[in-house]
Amino acid sequence: MKEAKLDILIKNGRVVFPDEGVERNCAIGILTDRIASIGEQDEPAMRVIDAEGLIVSPGFVDIHMHNEEKEDPFTVQRSLLLQGVTTALAGNCGTGLFIDEYASMFDGLYLNLAFLTGHTRLREAVGITDVYREATEDEISGMCGLLERELDMGSFGLSFGLEYAPNTSKNEIIRLSKVLTSYDRRLISVHIRHDGPACIGAVREMIDLARETSVRVQLSHIGSMTAFGQSREALDMIDQARSEGVDVRFDTYPYEAFCTYIGSTVFDPGFEKRWNKGLDALEVASGPNRGRRLDEDLYQRLRSDAPETLIVAHVMNEEEIRACMRHPLAALGSDAILQNKGGHPRAAGAFPRGIRWLREDGLSWPQALSHATVTPADDMWLVSGRIARGAPADLVIFDPDKFTDRATFKDPLLPPGGIEWVIAGGRVAVEKGRIIEPPKGEFLLRCPRIQKRV
Ligand SMILES: [Zn+2]
Repeated sequence: MKEAKLDILIKNGRVVFPDEGVERNCAIGILTDRIASIGEQDEPAMRVIDAEGLIVSPGFVDIHMHNEEKEDPFTVQRSLLLQGVTTALAGNCGTGLFIDEYASMFDGLYLNLAFLTGHTRLREAVGITDVYREATEDEISGMCGLLERELDMGSFGLSFGLEYAPNTSKNEIIRLSKVLTSYDRRLISVHIRHDGPACIGAVREMIDLARETSVRVQLSHIGSMTAFGQSREALDMIDQARSEGVDVRFDTYPYEAFCTYIGSTVFDPGFEKRWNKGLDALEVASGPNRGRRLDEDLYQRLRSDAPETLIVAHVMNEEEIRACMRHPLAALGSDAILQNKGGHPRAAGAFPRGIRWLREDGLSWPQALSHATVTPADDMWLVSGRIARGAPADLVIFDPDKFTDRATFKDPLLPPGGIEWVIAGGRVAVEKGRIIEPPKGEFLLRCPRIQKRV
């Protein structure tokens, strides 16, 4: 027997190369945290994984998640890892924390985690407590300074949650966005100002921002903003803008229900009209009333007494969300958000479910997996999300016949079926659907001085 040179050899698998649009039967060799070889079936290795009948995919890249819940930052990471996610971008929808706050929350990570600086956090830091008020010039200057500090330290960019701060002025948006123009490879993610019929103007506003600043704009969970009859028009606007050279992109999650806090502006009076749905379409997802549908009394009570309660709103059209996902530009993003292990099943099911939908809609495995790997990786200028020599050894190995989400609104943390192994940073992190390794993820910092892997 030859001397073992590789740490891990994965052999006999159907290896998918989403960036090339092909799959091949071949072996993958891993040495330390990198893919060292592709093709050889009989290279000696310390450990051999037989992937006969299984698909070997790049680890999934989640461009839209939330990891800001300080009480329990790990359940969401574990749920994503069990889906095959190995890299994620936290801090979306304006909620991103400051880097020292993230750093103090984690002693070890289950995922490679990048983060965005949140507009809401910036507003709080300069003393704005009223989400309905405009910022003053001084406050905007203060926010710009803080944002600069975060970008210097490695933040991937800025996230806006404009629906949650509905009177944010154009001046405030432009001045903050322009801070990013002094930095390389930083993006703006945005939960746009309106869902429902007014989303068209809100998409237009963000296309104009990308055009005016030349900063990349990532429209967050486009399905939950536009799948009320406006998705087609929104996608056409994005296509048109891109054909004119505007760098605008989007992500979406594969559910007809969204999830956010009852106390947020999203549930300000008038929402029934926007979605053309009644209170009974809203389900409590955390706290003592979990599982109950809202009525007028419960709505009023939670709004005033427990505004942090998560609500799942079953209000979007599935067909429109599927159309958003099939768009070649669409990145699958979980929008995972949990509170005391309660929340929306997307935290544990978004990736298998989205990939299943794409397969049901006729996409090949490489096409379907591209939405979960190379597309989101490219959106944030990462080299992960692909299988290539020298690429990070982040892989997910699953049974294509059993690969599906199991999480439900009743049981939102049920891990998916069909995942045999997840390899993260060259180590087996998940085996037969169970996490077997302690955390080995890294903070991904976009900073020339301390840049790692990105
Ligand atoms: Zn959002």
